Amino acid sequence: MFRDALLSWYDAHRRDLPWRARDGEIVDPYRVWLSEIMLQQTTVQAVKAYFLKFIGRWPTVQDLAAAPQEDVLREWAGLGYYARARNLHRCAQVISAERGGIFPADVEELKKLPGIGAYTAAAITAIAFDKPATVVDANVERVVSRLFAVPEELPFIKPRLRVLADLFSADRVDRPGDFAQGMMDLGATICTPKSPRCIFCPVRAMCRAFAAGNPESYPRKAPKKEKPQKYGYFYWITDGAGRILLERRPESGMLGGMPGLPTSAWEEKITNKNKFWRESGCLTVDWDCLSQNAHTIRHSFTHFDLTLEGCQGNARNPEKIPEDRYFWVDKDSILSAGLPTLFLKAVKIIRK
Ligand code: SF4
Repeated sequence: MFRDALLSWYDAHRRDLPWRARDGEIVDPYRVWLSEIMLQQTTVQAVKAYFLKFIGRWPTVQDLAAAPQEDVLREWAGLGYYARARNLHRCAQVISAERGGIFPADVEELKKLPGIGAYTAAAITAIAFDKPATVVDANVERVVSRLFAVPEELPFIKPRLRVLADLFSADRVDRPGDFAQGMMDLGATICTPKSPRCIFCPVRAMCRAFAAGNPESYPRKAPKKEKPQKYGYFYWITDGAGRILLERRPESGMLGGMPGLPTSAWEEKITNKNKFWRESGCLTVDWDCLSQNAHTIRHSFTHFDLTLEGCQGNARNPEKIPEDRYFWVDKDSILSAGLPTLFLKAVKIIRK
């Protein structure tokens, strides 16, 4: 009964998303995989333009595999969580070189690929191959917690919500791909975090939270811990010819592999000890620290908040950069250098 109600509702109200196959089209696992990687930690609205850009430039997994990593990171810039982009590229190379461009239709095989965890493997299995798999994202967690009025708090109840979601997703489910997408769409459009529109919900007759009149109080959540703060400096170094110094960040670590302005270490206490660029030994830089309040940027990462203060300098010997890591860009083209959001904030504040 639940499944029939959900599937009928999905047939009439499914979201029109660029990665979804329309009626009569064959589902392309490459599009499903690409969208699911992009959607990790990111909203549907933010992903749409990136998805279309990637599909336009690299229409097949082989095209993506053949692209230079630098180009993939540049197109990804602004979407955040950059390890995803590097794993995306590696995964495309594995699929292309070792699997003839064919994605495996099996959760366990998918989980062996770079960047594909349990959730993404289940989503690809269900959506791309229409095979039963328990797909539990934040939308589904919310729907299930309300359907069963689960009293315990997130994140501790995640395993229990998964078991409950499994009740719907066992092998007997018809149309597993549509069922998974129906649950996601229900959570995204009807069973929303605030003000769920229960009156339009196809499964309200089976919902305990609706019956109790308090759907918004689910899922219950443990109080959030305060985020740690980190501090440091960013360096705006010019060469006297209108160019700005950028670095290619190390592969491991935050914003790995992305271009960025050089920065000091990011530390838990504000300190002056790193005020000047740690590699300035190879360059002679005339420093002119920017006034603190006018050129301070703040950025929130998943696990900490970062405050960086700007320091400006002019290099007397710009040819002395270690070229394996640093490079100069013309200041007029810095906005198209593929900088992540943190550094775009720095560029904008300096140029104000
Ligand atoms: Fe969510 Fe309301 Fe539907 Fe229950 S009835 S699943 S709370 S939208």
